[in-house]
Amino acid sequence: MSEEDTKRQPRRVGIMGGTFDPIHHGHLVAASEAASLFGLDQVVFVPAGKPYQKDDSEVSPAEHRYQMTVIATVSNPRFVVSRAEIDRTGPTYTIDTLRDFRDHYGRDTELFFITGADALGNILSWNSADELFQLAHFVGCNRPGHRLDDAGLPPGRVSLVEVPALAISSTECRERVRKGEPIWYLVPEGIVHYINKTGLYRH
Ligand code: NAP
Repeated sequence: MSEEDTKRQPRRVGIMGGTFDPIHHGHLVAASEAASLFGLDQVVFVPAGKPYQKDDSEVSPAEHRYQMTVIATVSNPRFVVSRAEIDRTGPTYTIDTLRDFRDHYGRDTELFFITGADALGNILSWNSADELFQLAHFVGCNRPGHRLDDAGLPPGRVSLVEVPALAISSTECRERVRKGEPIWYLVPEGIVHYINKTGLYRH
């Protein structure tokens, strides 16, 4: 392949969507695994602004979730964090994010939306489901013991990846903090300090 051909190769960008409340090593391993499997040049973590199906009281303030995502990804040059959903007002819909990314990166860039397989299980009920599959390839990360039933999902547009490190869950991390149990090694060290300093999840 000539140098010209290489330059013309479309870039491949992963969009890692999640609430990240808090971000943990399972998310980081999932992003790294997806980047390796799909040859992604970059993975953009996009903390959800206002997950419309969750009560406000169930989710920590977006700014905390954003800050933790920045701290957790800072050492990996291929990982970046976007404020797109945090700064957008109203409920968070993935279709708006994918349209923004498509406009930003242009048509030569292939987009891969990466998230939990459980979350993807309901994708057919998301806004503009048909358009979602035109804008991106979807990657569902399975945690051990859970499997997405991909019946009804468009063939060739969704891939499932097994991520053993997803035995860690945000729910478990929050629960452990509430009970005064350690979360060392479940989350990056900086996240332990951030949670201790801000008092997140204690109540
Ligand atoms: P969720 O229901 O909180 O999470 C479902 C499962 O997926 C949990 O086990 C969760 O584990 C896991 N998970 C979430 N994000 C993950 C990630 N990036 N990598 C690996 N596992 C992940 O899901 P959510 O966080 O609210 O939503 C996930 C994404 O789907 C977000 O980007 C959200 O905006 C999008 N979404 C869009 C629509 C829509 O457009 N209508 C509807 C629903 C969701 P942890 O708790 O450990 O993360």
